[in-house]
Amino acid sequence: MVILDGKKVSNDIKNEIAVEVQKIKDKGEKVPHLAAIIVGNDGASLTYVGSKVKACERVGFESTLVQMSNTTSEIELLEKIKELNENADIDGFIVQLPLPPQINEQKVLLAVNPDKDVDGFHPTNFGKMALDMSTFIPATPFGILELLDRYGVETKGKHTVVIGRSHIVGRPMSILMGRKGFPGNSTVTLTHSHTKNITQITSQADIIISALGVPNFLKAEMIKDDAVIVDVGITRVTDETRPRGYKIVGDVDFANVSKKASYITPVPGGVGPMTIAMLLKNTLLARERHNNI
Ligand code: NAP
Repeated sequence: MVILDGKKVSNDIKNEIAVEVQKIKDKGEKVPHLAAIIVGNDGASLTYVGSKVKACERVGFESTLVQMSNTTSEIELLEKIKELNENADIDGFIVQLPLPPQINEQKVLLAVNPDKDVDGFHPTNFGKMALDMSTFIPATPFGILELLDRYGVETKGKHTVVIGRSHIVGRPMSILMGRKGFPGNSTVTLTHSHTKNITQITSQADIIISALGVPNFLKAEMIKDDAVIVDVGITRVTDETRPRGYKIVGDVDFANVSKKASYITPVPGGVGPMTIAMLLKNTLLARERHNNI
């Protein structure tokens, strides 16, 4: 069994990006600039945004964090987005999800300039992805592809089962794994909460990508020998023995599933760090687009 070590690979990617940033600096050009908007003070969201800003600093990007209160109106947020769309200094930006209930998420995603949409959530970019055109691929699916690529995990002709059909993970993942090329060329089954007999489906899978957010959902008896397991789930579970009072767990019963799997991502240290690294990669791409490089 091989651990798909997202922590290590994401560090490699960050080092590669830092080299690119140094080249940009050496040419006297402006370094990439990523901005993030966060609305409200959800603990997990603040942690994610904090990690993204820290990662920018580490590779030499400029970063801007826009913090807005929990009571921000939709109009106020849309105005801030317009400002970032028009700010020539910023190459790309993200709006951290989830948003408070008074704000319509779809309206917000539609307001982001697709050329600055480094999360790849705008319908223009999502459509381009589905049509195999060059675009920003959502960071989590992009990170999973990169991880499979760097470990040389064969995907061609394999049966990939994706659990979860969210717009940010499961749905794009199912499209990407079925695309022509590598990683891709898989035969994909997309499952969700209405799927019947899920064990029957997962036990036929060569590759399982689990993105539902239910701790220890995927058990050893649900997979076949030598399956490749990618665990996207991140759930905070109370753990009084830890200083923070919680621990992070994935969707996969790692202790038992890892005994049967050929490759497996740990949680933490698997898909999570890859997501941040690919956001940085998308920002580098946004800078190129912005400057017509
Ligand atoms: P989401 O929007 O809540 O979607 C969950 C999906 O799982 C839905 O499609 C749901 O089906 C499906 N589902 C729920 N229970 C199920 C069951 N018993 N059997 C089969 N399918 C079931 O979640 P998300 O945003 O995609 O996130 C999923 C997990 O990944 C969460 O733990 C999240 O924290 C984590 N995540 C991690 C990263 C990372 O960087 N590692 C990034 C994003 C998300 P329906 O559509 O029928 O409701």
